Amino acid sequence: MKRRAILSSVLAGTAAFAQEKKSSRFNQATGYSDTPIIPFQRWKVHDIDRPKPTVVTPASEAGGAPSDAIVLLDGKNLSHWTFAGKKGKPKMDWKLENGYMEVTPGAGDARTNEAFGDMQLHLEWSPPAEISGDSQWRANSGVMIMGMYEIQVLDSYNNFTYADGQAGAVYGQYPPLVNPVRKPGEWNVYDIIWEAPRFVGKDLAKPAFVSVIFNGVVVQHRKELIGRTPHRVVGTYEAHAPELPLSLQDHDVTVRYRNIWARKLTL
Ligand code: MG
Repeated sequence: MKRRAILSSVLAGTAAFAQEKKSSRFNQATGYSDTPIIPFQRWKVHDIDRPKPTVVTPASEAGGAPSDAIVLLDGKNLSHWTFAGKKGKPKMDWKLENGYMEVTPGAGDARTNEAFGDMQLHLEWSPPAEISGDSQWRANSGVMIMGMYEIQVLDSYNNFTYADGQAGAVYGQYPPLVNPVRKPGEWNVYDIIWEAPRFVGKDLAKPAFVSVIFNGVVVQHRKELIGRTPHRVVGTYEAHAPELPLSLQDHDVTVRYRNIWARKLTL
């Protein structure tokens, strides 16, 4: 048995050598069909039949939307957004000016018209230069993924508040690994990778996972969410659709957003 194994590995080596010999520096093999299957995959090593990645044109400048992104806010209009409204308040939009949109307190959360499941999200936000309020009242907003899982937006610059409520936190679950926030009035950048939870009927089949890069600094690395992100209680999951709109929170204070785009991911 052992001898047979050695023999077959020698033969496999000979075959690989023969294939290698065929290619030269100017005539490289473009794939193989005689290589072993990669464990836990359906493809062979360097499989010639494996589908090639789709070509995406990156933005010409860092932070710009690549060619396959859905641009949700380019600063010119609010066509991708619906404003949820608040009880007892007149229907209002958020303010759009100078390339950004700003929370209009009382207008309610800004909700995308598109729905998203697994995605990559880029957005930039800025708290007012003039500080008002403290702790959770200082430029509080939030990226409400699927309308219910919040990555906190807060002016966390010299602002004493609970760790799992700081900017970059998975609200009420995980503080950011570090606090790389910029000064009030400056622009912060979030790049978020989201794996949506999966449900079978009413049951959770796979929890959500999130990674967050905040001003170029990793603050969440594939953290597993325990459920929704409510205030003062432990969040739980409730089955929902595989794709849902994204919201930005109206927490009754002004915060600005710009350059928002998302890419749907097939994971
Ligand atoms: Mg918030």
